[in-house]
Amino acid sequence: NRAPVTIIGLGMMGSALARAFLKEGHPTTVWNRAAGKAGTLAAMGAAVAGTAAEAVAASPLVVICVLDYEVMNEILASAGGILSGRVLVNLTNGTPAQARNAAAWAARQGAEYLDGGIMAVPQMIGAPGALVLYSGSPSSFTMYQQSLESLGASHYVGEDPGLASLYDLALLSAMFGMFGGFFQAVAMVRAEMIPASVFTPLVIPWLSAMMNAFPRMAQAVDTGEHGTDVSSLNINKSSFVNLIEASRDLGLSADLMTPLQALVNRGVAEGYGADGLSRLVELIRRPIST
Ligand code: NDP
Repeated sequence: NRAPVTIIGLGMMGSALARAFLKEGHPTTVWNRAAGKAGTLAAMGAAVAGTAAEAVAASPLVVICVLDYEVMNEILASAGGILSGRVLVNLTNGTPAQARNAAAWAARQGAEYLDGGIMAVPQMIGAPGALVLYSGSPSSFTMYQQSLESLGASHYVGEDPGLASLYDLALLSAMFGMFGGFFQAVAMVRAEMIPASVFTPLVIPWLSAMMNAFPRMAQAVDTGEHGTDVSSLNINKSSFVNLIEASRDLGLSADLMTPLQALVNRGVAEGYGADGLSRLVELIRRPIST
């Protein structure tokens, strides 16, 4: 089942997507604004379209992966009617609202729409470990799942086209929180001349052990029961005072830590001092303090 596929956008990610489809034997048509980027793919067997409209016309499955939604809208405006009867898979990063608008636009063109969130860097595409989240037209996902798995494992998260983006951005939020903590940690040890590479082997098992708390925290979030026998907000309030003071003593910025501290302090001030850290999710969900 090697469906012909079109890839629009041959940046770092789009080129990796096209290579993966070619590797799996899909007849592949490509288009990019800067034509030079199609050369290597043409040598691998891709057909190079002269315009975006020609590229869309070439395949029943059209994958687009460009800088942002504004660029996507601009490119697809020239191909609107031609999308009729085709499946548009948009792997451009955006917000749930942007994905829902794009799905409504595609429906007006008579096209089916799948939105995707790529949880991988280009080098991982087509290799084990790459995951792509999809939402939108269920029948299109069923029809093309096998083809889309040329890119990596696929995970369908629901019919609402905004959901893949929601999951994607939520996962990115988790990642940036982790990186932020790591950056503060290595800045602290470097301030005492300890090489980050010496300290880092301690960080990895520590974070892995802490991640074991996630399922229990998730249960607390879902049930609203935040009582703890692990570590209370009261205790963490003191830890934040210490780590922020230590960072400042080392001449470092504590800017990554102070918003978290503010949330912990707010929890204590609102009477949740005996609760576990998962209580902070309730505060995030209620941004205006009452
Ligand atoms: P690149 O910067 O490498 O490529 C950007 C692409 O957008 C190019 O094809 C570029 O065309 C096109 N583009 C930009 N502006 C315009 C314009 N005004 N008109 C027409 N085309 C335009 O980015 P990536 O390939 O890395 O990223 C593409 C998408 O994939 C983004 O949404 C990104 O968030 C997402 N993504 C990327 C990941 C990564 O690790 N790289 C990971 C997960 C998602 P041209 O060559 O002509 O400039």
